[in-house]
Amino acid sequence: MTAASPAKRPRVRFAPSPTGFLHVGGARTALFNWLYAKKYDGDFLLRIEDTDRQRSTDESTRAIFDGMQWLGLTWDEDVVYQGANVARHYADAHALLDSGAAYRDFTPPSELERLRAEAEARGDAFKFDRTLADLSASDLAQKLANNEPYAIRFRVPEGTTEWPDLVHGRIAFPNKDIEDFIILRSDGTPVYNMAVVSDDIAMGITLVMRGDDHISNTPKQILLYRALGAEVPQFGHVPMIHGTDGKKLSKRHGATAVGDYQHQGLLPQAMLNFLALLGWSSGDDTEVMTLPQLIERFSVQGLHAKAAVFDTKKLEWMNGQHLAHMPIDELAAIVAPMIEHAGLSTVAELTANHAWFCGVLELLRIRARLTDEIVAQAPPFFTDGVEYDPEAVAKQWRDAAATADILEATHDRLASLGDWEPAPMEEALRTLAEERAISGGKIFQPLRVALTGLTVSPGIFDVLLYVGRERSLTRLSRAVAFLRG
Ligand code: GLU
Repeated sequence: MTAASPAKRPRVRFAPSPTGFLHVGGARTALFNWLYAKKYDGDFLLRIEDTDRQRSTDESTRAIFDGMQWLGLTWDEDVVYQGANVARHYADAHALLDSGAAYRDFTPPSELERLRAEAEARGDAFKFDRTLADLSASDLAQKLANNEPYAIRFRVPEGTTEWPDLVHGRIAFPNKDIEDFIILRSDGTPVYNMAVVSDDIAMGITLVMRGDDHISNTPKQILLYRALGAEVPQFGHVPMIHGTDGKKLSKRHGATAVGDYQHQGLLPQAMLNFLALLGWSSGDDTEVMTLPQLIERFSVQGLHAKAAVFDTKKLEWMNGQHLAHMPIDELAAIVAPMIEHAGLSTVAELTANHAWFCGVLELLRIRARLTDEIVAQAPPFFTDGVEYDPEAVAKQWRDAAATADILEATHDRLASLGDWEPAPMEEALRTLAEERAISGGKIFQPLRVALTGLTVSPGIFDVLLYVGRERSLTRLSRAVAFLRG
């Protein structure tokens, strides 16, 4: 155990509200919690905070599950649905009422409105005055007998509420700045802070790691823990995520849903690596890390307090890094269905030709940052014919007659080779170039267009090898016929 290891088995949670897609900021918070649990051999729990019935949807809950599953952020134990625990939230609020830590407030909403408007007119921040709720015993009995609706308010004690935040260090709030907040509304529904604390206690959470935007909730939550006689967990508030312009990340900056990145051909391990660096660093310059490396290196000491910057260029770069270095078999498993989806082959065929397929992927991944770009470069290796890009034709086949001649000679030299291997191919074509007193490029560039239809491709001898003898020679003949039109 390192000095920073928690004293007891940690239990952390990710607690999204299912009111939209899984946001990259949420996924980042989930990842930090997940890494913490893995690192310190703890439990990572998922709680769907669906108490806002108006805004919560099943579709959104599904999007959260899908996003987490795609990223591999598996959770321990059954998912907790906050909405299923309302009876406990209610009971906890009443326990606080019974112990005197909270009190009934019968103030009608219209009266509260009036007081709030008055305070505003004076330029003051409204704060509930607890004397408004003072009732004589007989008044109270009367109101209860009449079934008058009341809210339950927490009686904020004097003093200061502070905690050693794992990210920000000591944070303290003078209690005089915290009003006697409602914990149970007059319709009997719990407020957010009551529900969260009740659930975190029931789930045995030892560390609450969440976004900075919750810092102002934390003193209220700590007061609730204490009043309920529960152990206060540790807190760590991770920084907000901004766009490259320094403004809070929003749709203006590009996709903010994890699912969008999934469908753009991002690798989950690259997304995780990128998300991990939003507000955390490994302590040295290392940026490209596999999941096991992230678990190994993760520590709360590496979390930053200042806002993180979401740079999609960096995300693409990161993806390219993972694409280039991941085991080729893993890449094959990801790309094969995409190749099938593009109508170029079938997963069964690719499996039958596994070594060849991996060879093609080795070539294509060099120029790709996204798996989509691998698929986009793939057709020449899978289809019989190729389409000529008009720009490639204009650039590399400018002199049709001379190009047809050179391609014909190229065809004949390659056709005469005993071994369809890069070394003899290169020797044969360099000899041809010497005989004609032209540079190698004058042969290779037109040949590339004949084989791929494009001006850029992997190394030409690799292309010949993986396109295969028969298809390569057919394409050369076809190019000659095309040029002689
Ligand atoms: N449901 C809250 C949110 O989505 C999270 C609350 C928490 O982590 O304590 O922001």
